[in-house]
Amino acid sequence: MYSPQQQAVTVLGSTGSIGVSTLDVLERHPQRYSIFALTARERVEELAQQCRRFAPRFAVVADEEKAGRLQSMLAASDLQTEVLWGVEGLCQVAADSRVDTVMAAIVGAAGLRPTLAAVEAGKRVLLANKESLVMAGPVFTRALAASGAEMLPIDSEHNAIFQCLPQPCGSLEGAGVEKILLTGSGGPFRRHQLDDLHHVTPDEACAHPNWSMGRKISVDSATMMNKGLEFIEACLLFNARPEQIKVVVHPQSIIHSMVQYRDGSLLAQMGNPDMRTPIAHALAFPERIDSGVAALDLIAQGRLDFEAPDLRRFPCLRLAREAMAAGGSAPTVLNAANEVAVDAFLGGKLPFTGIPAVIEQVMDSVPAVELTGLDAVENADRQARALALKVLESA
Ligand code: NAD
Ligand code: MG
Repeated sequence: MYSPQQQAVTVLGSTGSIGVSTLDVLERHPQRYSIFALTARERVEELAQQCRRFAPRFAVVADEEKAGRLQSMLAASDLQTEVLWGVEGLCQVAADSRVDTVMAAIVGAAGLRPTLAAVEAGKRVLLANKESLVMAGPVFTRALAASGAEMLPIDSEHNAIFQCLPQPCGSLEGAGVEKILLTGSGGPFRRHQLDDLHHVTPDEACAHPNWSMGRKISVDSATMMNKGLEFIEACLLFNARPEQIKVVVHPQSIIHSMVQYRDGSLLAQMGNPDMRTPIAHALAFPERIDSGVAALDLIAQGRLDFEAPDLRRFPCLRLAREAMAAGGSAPTVLNAANEVAVDAFLGGKLPFTGIPAVIEQVMDSVPAVELTGLDAVENADRQARALALKVLESA
């Protein structure tokens, strides 16, 4: 139930994997948090159930038809929740003056406007939606500086890095940091024969060995584009130069990332692979609250392994580094082409190995421009998507 005495939280993308984990943590602390708004694109029945459980002030869906359906479901259960729709509705519940914290957990570029609206309104923004930051890095940096909003990383790696840095952290140099070690499991195909990758199915790609996640990020993990996006995300969040970030494959996903200091210290954050830990950390920061995640049993775990990433197997990692080096709209183009390619793969219209091929073709054909504002971001995104669709048609 929404109440002004507690911290009011909007959960953008509440029916997704991160959204559901967020509600699980929030429900453990009813004295501390109240739910202001919940949002979903199309799973109206699921959103109605969440509304019955949390009685938010607002619920938002994709369009008017779904809003009508949700409204009648809620009226039948006598709920006062007001129903909104579309991107305007999302931006409204992200920026409302009664909201303290916004969990940005919509997947892909669709999260850009509402996440930016939360930043511009000076909220505590819990960033899961890495695509929005990757596609509009300079726009976010300027908006954060102007509003004084606080952005806390939910991505487990960036949350780990944040935990291994002194807070506040003015600059990496000032803090004595030499390198950030961004860990990744290598996904389900780390050991696959390279020739067999052509034939892997969406279900195989989505069967991640350690994490249970939405389908888009699961495919990104299998191509390691997820690590590529995270590399760009880390440069932006921690104001790091590309050469300060090293990707390390760590198949067990127990260490979530590390920070290497000048004096030879290497700090790691560890835990069971469960997103409720970074969610609880960012919700309560600088305090610590129960997340429902069991303590890590290192003896049962037994061993931790590390290896260098294989760039031949994972060309997406190289493409992300190239996009970051090119700067401007290059990461926007990379992200847009990836979203279109992943969608095509999930829809059975593109083989797994076609994903990096489509992205590379699009990146080669769209010149990087400066990201002067949201319009420039949305233009580059649109242009890259149109071109990616053309490449798919001609393939
Ligand atoms: P998901 O597919 O499980 O959920 C996505 C949510 O976004 C759903 O609630 C859906 O209704 C909503 N949504 C999708 N398209 C929308 C649109 N066009 N308009 C409005 N709402 C829309 O995804 P997820 O795995 O929860 O991931 C969410 C974000 O968090 C992604 O950016 C992902 O990269 C990031 N992330 C996820 C994990 C994880 O463990 N799942 C870890 C780190 C980061
Ligand atoms: Mg991650």
